[in-house]
Amino acid sequence: MEASALVLFMNRIVGLETEYGCLTNTPAGSFIAVERVRDWIFGREEFGLIDVHHRDWDEPPGNGGFLFNGGRVYIDMGHLEYCTPECLNLVDLLKYDRAGDLLAVHALKALGLNGEVSFIRNNIDHYTGATFGCHENYLVRRSAPLTEANVLSLLTFLTLRLLYTGAGRVGTTLAAEWRGEVSRPGSDGMFQMSQRADYINNDLYEWVQFNRSIINTRDEPLGDPRKFRRLHLLHGDTSVLPATVLLKVGTTSLMLDLLEINHLPKIVLADAVKTFRTLSHEPEGPWVVRLSDGRSTDAVELLQKFFDAAWSEFHGRDTETDVLLDVWGSTLKALSFEPQALIGKVDWITKRWLLNKFLEQEKLDWDDPWLKAQDLEFHHVDVTRSLGLALNRPPPAWDLTDKTFDAAVLEPPNNTRAHARAKVMHLLREHSPPYSIDWEIIGVEGINPLNLLNPFDPNPPEIKSWFTEFSGAIKGFSAPTRPSRRDTGKN
Ligand code: ATP
Ligand code: MG
Ligand code: MG
Repeated sequence: MEASALVLFMNRIVGLETEYGCLTNTPAGSFIAVERVRDWIFGREEFGLIDVHHRDWDEPPGNGGFLFNGGRVYIDMGHLEYCTPECLNLVDLLKYDRAGDLLAVHALKALGLNGEVSFIRNNIDHYTGATFGCHENYLVRRSAPLTEANVLSLLTFLTLRLLYTGAGRVGTTLAAEWRGEVSRPGSDGMFQMSQRADYINNDLYEWVQFNRSIINTRDEPLGDPRKFRRLHLLHGDTSVLPATVLLKVGTTSLMLDLLEINHLPKIVLADAVKTFRTLSHEPEGPWVVRLSDGRSTDAVELLQKFFDAAWSEFHGRDTETDVLLDVWGSTLKALSFEPQALIGKVDWITKRWLLNKFLEQEKLDWDDPWLKAQDLEFHHVDVTRSLGLALNRPPPAWDLTDKTFDAAVLEPPNNTRAHARAKVMHLLREHSPPYSIDWEIIGVEGINPLNLLNPFDPNPPEIKSWFTEFSGAIKGFSAPTRPSRRDTGKN
């Protein structure tokens, strides 16, 4: 079925931020390559506009900018980061997520760096032990009943979804005292399901870089704060296979649909962080987890309860939800009875299968350093090099053509605020006033800032009067400006 023939709908705005790993021959090479790629992107007028002043004051001027496709590119702690635009359906999310990879591929090719530099969609530097993230962003209605029971149940889901969202990794960076507690004798964590589990120390916390938690409690809605929240997740892995992206974002969004109507099943783990780590270190299973009431039970059975609630509430709502429920239901069955059926669909299962084959062929042990190099090969953004994408079996209607992806590099989604922002950005490019751009506010010197507070609205009414004001001010532009929603708020 052609994707465009579907009725697509997601009840919320979602966006992904991907920090790319960068492989080069020299350690300093990655910093130089990342800056060259960023400069190439913003040096080409079709892709976007460099942002002189961004909302985070610690971000140096010109560190990145917004794209005409509605996304954003910048450098975060030495990593190239690409953010998708605000997306309202899963097919769009997939397209725009891939558009970031394509930008990186185009840039390396144009810069002649293809042979010596590559970008990868992973979360670990195997040599320094450092981690970098893939943040998931979900709009949540302010009215959602965030009771303790609901938040703890969401925490349970976000922990257990690891069974089909993990990207898999060779080795562990877990401190020895934790290793004794979570690793099975003999395996020593040599292959684990999650890239991030070893680095997640808390259930709920507000920081991003230290004391990372399963639910990041930072409340920055990037929209009207009276109406919206933004759930900002940083415990998930960067996904490689489209089916894993679909499952990760789609099922999480369905859980938020349930939470907003107060129908999320009440299931609370005894210790979410410990469960997350322990599961990650047990690719073989059995996946038995402890609940807060002291009972032990099967993790897939718990996920099935979340699935059943979503199915009974949302089945038949729209085509996209039905496809998602179909893929989710069959994934849960396969996890229990036939994990091999998930090769090409679930990242960690695919990677583990590949690495096992490699071990057999080359007669290696799990602790052979060669395996860490093979692990990285799974994650290349360049489809001609990615071991993961070579096995890709996308879900129905998610088998998108190259043309679709090419368009997503240049054009925004037409059903969210990204459309409005891109329209304004084209005007800014044409007239070159001093500007500052953010997700929900655009500043131009001498005129009122344009607030785009409703991320669902591709054509906000205030844009018309702002355009009129802009036209009147074109001649008087002189000095840079830095209006921001955080002018007074953040610090
Ligand atoms: P950091 O990089 O420090 O984590 P951040 O997450 O606040 O900062 P960005 O890196 O700019 O900021 O990424 C914002 C992400 O949020 C993007 O993926 C974007 O698509 C998404 N997004 C934008 N507006 C909304 C919204 N109203 N609700 C949910 N997601 C949003
Ligand atoms: Mg970011
Ligand atoms: Mg973020």
